Amino acid sequence: MRYLPVFLDMHGARVVVAGSGPAAVAKLRLLLKTPAAIEVFDAEPGADVLAWEAGGVLTLHRRPLSEGDVDGAKAIYLADETADPGTRAALEVARANGTLVNVVDAPEECDFLTPAVVDRDPVIVAIGSEGTAPMLATRLRADIEDMLPAETGPLARVAGTLRRRAAAVPAGARRRAFWARFFGAAGTTAWRSGGRDAVIGAFDRMLAEETAPVTGRVALVGAGPGDPELLTRKAHRLLREADVIVYDRLVSPEVLDLARRDARFLPVGKMPFGPSWKQEDINALIVAEAQAGNVVVRLKSGDPGVYGRLDEEVEALDAAGVPFEVVPGITAAVAGAAELGLSLTRRGRNKSLRFLTGHDIDGFAEHDWRGLAAPGATAAVYMGVRAARFIQGRLLMHGADPATPVTVVENISRADRREAVATLADLPETMAAAGIVGPAILYLGIAPRSVRSNAARPEPSQRNPAHAQSR
Ligand code: SAH
Repeated sequence: MRYLPVFLDMHGARVVVAGSGPAAVAKLRLLLKTPAAIEVFDAEPGADVLAWEAGGVLTLHRRPLSEGDVDGAKAIYLADETADPGTRAALEVARANGTLVNVVDAPEECDFLTPAVVDRDPVIVAIGSEGTAPMLATRLRADIEDMLPAETGPLARVAGTLRRRAAAVPAGARRRAFWARFFGAAGTTAWRSGGRDAVIGAFDRMLAEETAPVTGRVALVGAGPGDPELLTRKAHRLLREADVIVYDRLVSPEVLDLARRDARFLPVGKMPFGPSWKQEDINALIVAEAQAGNVVVRLKSGDPGVYGRLDEEVEALDAAGVPFEVVPGITAAVAGAAELGLSLTRRGRNKSLRFLTGHDIDGFAEHDWRGLAAPGATAAVYMGVRAARFIQGRLLMHGADPATPVTVVENISRADRREAVATLADLPETMAAAGIVGPAILYLGIAPRSVRSNAARPEPSQRNPAHAQSR
């Protein structure tokens, strides 16, 4: 690192710019964000500088820079390709007197370089490449722009006024974690909901919690269907905070990868028809881990409230007096429909939508088959792979059209995703031929986009090639 990054105080400073072409304008845009007194020298000033002069934000001298102009300047930018010898001489005099010199596009003549800047005033990110790769710096700036929410600046300003009060939180790791939460979801959400006052309110609550006796807590978190990009930001944050992660079989490894490396990972996988953890043992586990003072994330695939036995765990936590929160996730049926590019409701087809399970504790589950057999009825069936023949039988018995489309999507949002396009008449055979073993969602009454719903089945050649592999 040849160059030391520093932030120069521009309050009361004088900055001189020789030239007013595009290079000068680029520097001026940055300089104008500071309180510096700016003087521009150019015999033939450009349009931007003329406009700024008219607006009274800088002083313009319609002549080249000369020696007497540089006294006491904090910095000089030479951005004038045609710089005459007088300007050059002035530059060297200034340099000798301790003024910082920047010659645009000539790093070897510069005392300092101008970084690419992400401005969330008072938070400023400066990116430099020591003159080697300005375009790379520009690209990184764009990436960082995307990373920093607009609230960053205002939050930093409010935090500045609260710093003294945060001394009530023990210094070190605790206080760092406190500020991390404040600048993370807590502060950002508060700012969006009610600006400065809400941020101060959130800070007060956090401070009260932080100074109260420590207890563990549990977050029951939806992990979505598998793709980690489908996680909520809250789920992501909790994964990073958790001491203990208790997770189901269908939670993807990519999601678990986002957790803290030093967290304890406890799989409580329930195999659909194999050995499994008993629900009451899972309840006892999360209660005990929280009571030991841990932040527990109970990670469930999809949404925790959709076929996730959420209530049983919530009741156990409630009974034990353990604080908890529930964080929703994207449920498999919703994610699968998005992959198909389809809406689950549609005007003129279905006004309601059902989520069904293929089986319950008593075996294959019974439903309102008459309603489901009606034309246009639409349902997403969870845990329906083994129940496919049973569902087919019940629906046909209740008068469903055998040509009713059924689309089956397996491993939604994962690399090994597959789909099978069937009708009610051939559902079990089509699923078997496609090798669908689950986890999968069966969409009753929904055909992929290329197949008209409720119409006679087209020949395979008419189907969207994207679906051809399913046959
Ligand atoms: N809480 C989960 C559902 C758990 S029940 C959710 O909201 O998605 C388990 C069933 O969910 C599976 O049998 C299957 O029907 C469905 N499922 C879960 N993840 C899936 C995935 N990635 N692809 C397809 N189906 C999935």
